Amino acid sequence: MTPAINQCTHMCLFCWRYQGFTEKELKEFDNPKYILDKSIEAQRKLITGFKGDDRCDQIKWKEANNPNMVACSLSGEPTLYPKLGDFFNECHKRGMTTFLVTNGTNPEALANLDPLPTQLYVSIVAPNEEIYKKLCSPLISDGWDRINQTLELLPSLDTRTVIRHTLVQDWNMKDKYIGEYGRLDRKASPVFIEPKGYVFVGSSRKRMTLSNMPSHDAVRDFEHKLVDNLVYEFAMEKLASKVVLLTKKPNTARIVKQG
Ligand code: SF4
Repeated sequence: MTPAINQCTHMCLFCWRYQGFTEKELKEFDNPKYILDKSIEAQRKLITGFKGDDRCDQIKWKEANNPNMVACSLSGEPTLYPKLGDFFNECHKRGMTTFLVTNGTNPEALANLDPLPTQLYVSIVAPNEEIYKKLCSPLISDGWDRINQTLELLPSLDTRTVIRHTLVQDWNMKDKYIGEYGRLDRKASPVFIEPKGYVFVGSSRKRMTLSNMPSHDAVRDFEHKLVDNLVYEFAMEKLASKVVLLTKKPNTARIVKQG
């Protein structure tokens, strides 16, 4: 779900969403309890038709009616919602864990966020300002500086942190960028780093071509080169999602999920 549907500081070329992001702030907003109640209501409506399908596991269907994890992502930039801390508080009060995915352009919101989400993702989708401006089409003039402020802030935040690199073939995953990504990742020192391939779906098909979608092998190749620059290790990968997870912790067995 997202508390900021139409508001974002970027117009990324690879964004899956329809982009009418002309607003950089939320002027009118709903209260956290209302948003959470309505999100759960919408989830129940979304899955209602599955119940009568013989292939549907009824236990899982019942569980899905009472979600215990909320991911703030989906569309827009969630940190533009001024009551995000209260929203997380409401989720945690109900025993839910929380994920936040941010584009990193709102360091003040993250510095003042109370409580922090259970897991905080910052998407770093460009190795330098030049690629950032071309690929993210920022609606703000100081976006790259603000992203770097977020990276500097990250080690001080007492939660599980993740840097996600959304990789777009022919755009931001060339070998010559590995060193710059490494420097950005070292600054943030996250718990996890997640290289993830762009997927050619939704409205991004109007701005990208199928050839911009990297193979899982290309994502893994990027990961191998990136890991040489860092004190991180391979932890897990999921082929269908074109994603590889790196962790700082001593490595466990290599696990491959096909699903
Ligand atoms: S930051 Fe996220 S929501 Fe905003 S344009 Fe980029 S991909 Fe879309």
